Amino acid sequence: MDIEDLAERILAGERRALARGITLVESGRADHKTMARALLERLRGSGREAMRIGLSGTPGVGKSTFIESFGMMLVAQGLRVAVLAVDPSSARTGGSILGDKTRMERLSRSRQAFIRPSPAQSHLGGVARRTREAIALCEAAGFDVVLIETVGVGQSETVVAEMSDLFLLLLAPAGGDELQGVKRGIMETADIILINKADGDLKATATRTCADYAGALRLLRKRPQDPEGFPKALTVSAALERGLETAWAEINALADWRRETGHFAGRRAEQARFWFEAEVREGLLARLRREPVKGAMAALAAQVEAGQISAELAADELLETYLGESLPT
Ligand code: GDP
Repeated sequence: MDIEDLAERILAGERRALARGITLVESGRADHKTMARALLERLRGSGREAMRIGLSGTPGVGKSTFIESFGMMLVAQGLRVAVLAVDPSSARTGGSILGDKTRMERLSRSRQAFIRPSPAQSHLGGVARRTREAIALCEAAGFDVVLIETVGVGQSETVVAEMSDLFLLLLAPAGGDELQGVKRGIMETADIILINKADGDLKATATRTCADYAGALRLLRKRPQDPEGFPKALTVSAALERGLETAWAEINALADWRRETGHFAGRRAEQARFWFEAEVREGLLARLRREPVKGAMAALAAQVEAGQISAELAADELLETYLGESLPT
């Protein structure tokens, strides 16, 4: 594969080249990994920056419908939109629920859009790295907005928040009791909460739910990265395409403020640091799982089980043997 040629075609915005690039970064093959790294290095510093928007919500809340409507609105404004997914359950279910093109039919047909379903990978760490690299490729390909979709389960929201400039939480209209059901941590991560399905019979409930969340958001400690009035709650109807322009205006108001105050760049720098540290930890753990450490660990574990050596001493011994010189204590 000619990496230089692929890089140039990605920079030219060719969607097929972008798809190939993402396939490369997703591959587990050692030679592909080397090529993927070369590709990413070649594209780094392209100077292009997309707005990275994280979007979370439980299944059925209307994520696909929202991405389709919201994406089409952006496309109508002349923007190019990429959709990626972080789906921790895809390995278990065998199929992808997120980023499913059949559920975003209009958007998937648009030449200004690019939709990539989540890969079937077992651990979140792998999915996280692949998604960050896919974001980098989408930016190099000149996309203006990258939407990163995830479900509201487990750690995936945190992972997506750590790679987004802005984080949207999509919620369904519901009674006051439900408010308790949203984990505080997620509320604190959200920049904008969108109460979807504000139409028909659900409209009144949606308006009430929105007011409830607006109240709850006001009780949160003010974050330095927020101007007055943020985080905020809004109602939308993805199905009827209502409230989407307002949501986009609020997203831009927030992003502009953060750009002017340095919080936008600051957050990206923080995220880069976060992922660097995560990569170091993962790399260390991966090496512990390989020979010769793996065997030495098994032998020491047997001694620990038999009570011949304490767990602490055994751990010290192992780390000293393999890291002692390179990483002195
Ligand atoms: P996802 O699982 O979060 O991707 O949710 P979907 O986009 O598949 O939507 C789940 C269901 O909610 C579908 O039956 C949609 O038609 C419906 N839905 C989505 N958005 C709206 C909306 O704005 N209003 C109403 N009334 N229904 C909606």
